[in-house]
Amino acid sequence: MQMLNEINNVVISPHFNLSEFSCPCCKKVMLHPLLLEKLEKLRKIIERPVYITSGYRCPGYNHQIGGVTNSYHRIGLAADIKVKDINLIELLGCAEEIDFTGIGFYEKKNFLHLDVRPTKGSRWRE
Ligand SMILES: [Zn+2]
Ligand SMILES: [Zn+2]
Repeated sequence: MQMLNEINNVVISPHFNLSEFSCPCCKKVMLHPLLLEKLEKLRKIIERPVYITSGYRCPGYNHQIGGVTNSYHRIGLAADIKVKDINLIELLGCAEEIDFTGIGFYEKKNFLHLDVRPTKGSRWRE
């Protein structure tokens, strides 16, 4: 049904659409406004499109892709991002400036995990 293809097709900020954050398997979505606000800030600083490669994950999908059980993706506090034509280290520097509380640096797969966890900041590298 055509209407269902439109689900979550809602512009939620100058550069993001809600559908970009939805779970690929069920289209359910949770998104914290602070995460969106910080992603917009990042978009502004780097002046390039930010691709959300993983936003909200329902428990089944999270399990399927081998995500950790208590992943912040499961509660709408995390997004994995890719940006074309920018050095990952440079992108990391910008993410640090915006002060995401959780930042994962995935060098080989060339993406960053960013989250707004309420607890003390966490940094890791893979
Ligand atoms: Zn799902
Ligand atoms: Zn992630």
